Amino acid sequence: MIEIRLRQSWINTFLNCPEQARQERYKLVEQKESSDLLRGNAVHAAIEFAGGSPSVVELEDLHQLAEDYVRTYSSEVEVWRHEYDKLLDTVMANLSVWYSELYILGATRAEDPLLPAASVEEPFQKSLGIRGNVNLILTGTADWVAEDGVIWDWKNPSRFYEPWEKKRWDIQSHAYCYALDKTEFKLCVLANGQLQIISINRPKEWRDAFVELCWSMVPTIMSDAETWPQNWSGWHCSPKWCPVWQAGKCRGEHLGENPW
Ligand code: SF4
Repeated sequence: MIEIRLRQSWINTFLNCPEQARQERYKLVEQKESSDLLRGNAVHAAIEFAGGSPSVVELEDLHQLAEDYVRTYSSEVEVWRHEYDKLLDTVMANLSVWYSELYILGATRAEDPLLPAASVEEPFQKSLGIRGNVNLILTGTADWVAEDGVIWDWKNPSRFYEPWEKKRWDIQSHAYCYALDKTEFKLCVLANGQLQIISINRPKEWRDAFVELCWSMVPTIMSDAETWPQNWSGWHCSPKWCPVWQAGKCRGEHLGENPW
């Protein structure tokens, strides 16, 4: 039996550009540590602490934890897209709005109540089935699974999302609902101290369709092709975001670091 493991985030990469996904899968390139990642990770670390704590935590403690996180890991950032102080301000503001609007109000919120976490940052792995001699396994980590079964995911982008786009096309909600056998997924978007919540339902039909999406990737993964299809159409195909381009491969080999 051949076991193929699909990490949820890698599925997104594959759908954006199979060739980038191939290079990352075989560790031919690596995503650079960026200030965007640091901003999100610092907020995640503080929320994880709050979710795992048996008693109510103070906002000051979360701010301190996040500030320590940023200070500790800032030396690992290779690509700074924000000034250090501005990044820290955004982390603090995002934690403040999460704390006052979600954590403190919790189950008393009229819309989108946040119940205490049954689990935080818990890794999962679940089979997507066995076909032929292949066992396809989905892996990932859910930010916060609440006591009422709602899956919450914290995002720290620079701007709000379009809800209708996420409801139609978001992959992560499919993956998590499938893996944890749940239906309700909420994207909690924290952007510059503002809060947006996008509620997404993934009933069985949607999860079944997702299983087929994953299996559609298997022939490519199992092929011994030296390259996989390139996809230039989208924001991801640029020296700013693609590690293959940054490594001077693919389009980067021909167009260099400043093509436009
Ligand atoms: S440069 Fe563009 S086409 Fe090439 S791997 Fe990166 S995203 Fe894909």
